[in-house]
Amino acid sequence: MNERDSEAVAAMLRARGYRLVQHEDDCDIMLLNTCSIRDLAEQKAIGKAGYMAARKKRRPQFILGILGCMAQNRGAALLDLLPDVDLIVGTQKFHQVPGYLDNLRAARAAGMPVGDTIIDIAEEAGSQNTIRDHVLDERQVTAFVSIQQGCNMDCTFCIVPKTRGDERSRPMDDIMVECRALAERGVREITLLGQIVTSYGRRSAGRQNAHAGGATPFVQLLERLHEIDGLARLRFTSPHPRGFKQDLVAAYGRLPKLCECVHLPLQSGSDRLLRAMNRPYTRESYLQIVDALRRARPDMYFSTDVIVGFPGETEADFAQTLELFEAVNYDMAYIFKYSIRSGTPAATMPGQVPDAVKEERNQILLRLLEKNSRRRNQSLVGTVQEVLVEGPDKKGLRYMGRTRGNRTVHFEATERLIGKLVPVHITRATTSALYGEPALAGVEP
Ligand code: SAH
Repeated sequence: MNERDSEAVAAMLRARGYRLVQHEDDCDIMLLNTCSIRDLAEQKAIGKAGYMAARKKRRPQFILGILGCMAQNRGAALLDLLPDVDLIVGTQKFHQVPGYLDNLRAARAAGMPVGDTIIDIAEEAGSQNTIRDHVLDERQVTAFVSIQQGCNMDCTFCIVPKTRGDERSRPMDDIMVECRALAERGVREITLLGQIVTSYGRRSAGRQNAHAGGATPFVQLLERLHEIDGLARLRFTSPHPRGFKQDLVAAYGRLPKLCECVHLPLQSGSDRLLRAMNRPYTRESYLQIVDALRRARPDMYFSTDVIVGFPGETEADFAQTLELFEAVNYDMAYIFKYSIRSGTPAATMPGQVPDAVKEERNQILLRLLEKNSRRRNQSLVGTVQEVLVEGPDKKGLRYMGRTRGNRTVHFEATERLIGKLVPVHITRATTSALYGEPALAGVEP
């Protein structure tokens, strides 16, 4: 989501005549878009901002801005740590950045002393509708599209409701316009973004029509996007397990462009902890969702988020998480050590878990994930996978693309194949990647 927000700001700036530079040493303005989900993310951003601020000693005209969640979370208090920051802009004000930069530059051009920091972390109705511009490379094949901002779930560990505000969805027609334009520019795969995408539209005006035909607004959106010519694949992140009702499960059987790849944040496999986290499902209902999705698409890929070391997590709780993690056989997972976020209910809960225990549990899950991931990749050797070709890989030796299950594949190709769906015969697998040869007879014209 931060990448997407940054891209939208970059596109707005570019439209105003600003230019993106390749390397940070060359920039006159640096905007750091920040994350607050864990303390480590904030510490990294503060470190980077401090390092960049030192540049002002040599170049007083240099402008440094902090955007996003940490700006929202800390506001003016950031100046105690970073007195030289020029701009602090919260999560509902990204679209104001170009205007603020113009003001800062005009003041400098007029010879006014480099002065007060501009701080804007207010709420703004409709701000979810401003994340819509893109900076596309000429041959860009995949894109993120923000459909919603904020979250009202109040998970007890999570700072997102504070940093991102209330759940607000964009109008479906606006999303359609954006996605059609992306498809016309050659984008073949779109990933819908939001903090809780499965609740898309549930708080919008006109909700009385929202359940037309028994489908939730989110499923209606998927159905409409599915009609766009040129788009070959649809993905979304992050959903909430409670959003996987019958209509969404059924959509996987009905909408072939919807990739059989689901991110299903678990957080914990212990019912006791799920309650303490205010996650409204149980291990049993979670497993029922997994089963229903596997029935709809037997080759479904699953990824998840897990927190280890939530306050009060015992060995027995963790054993439940481990057991469930093994049972679902995740293909990918983000495993987090619980991080105290001040102002959230879990921050002051008794039974905070020592770091060493968090680290140990983290390692155990990581090892299991590696095993599962390798096993899944190995099982693909000898098969033919549909790959959407994105471009040269990082080393520039081969081309890369991803399967419908979001596995990265490296193979010999030519530029002509960028943007095409190509059947690739998988010949080799590691934990993180697949290697193969295109079966060129089956390439899209
Ligand atoms: N809204 C999304 C998740 C956004 S944050 C959802 O609910 O699925 C991504 C992940 O960060 C969360 O799923 C959770 O696993 C992790 N996370 C959130 N708060 C955390 C905290 N205080 N400590 C550690 N991990 C956390």
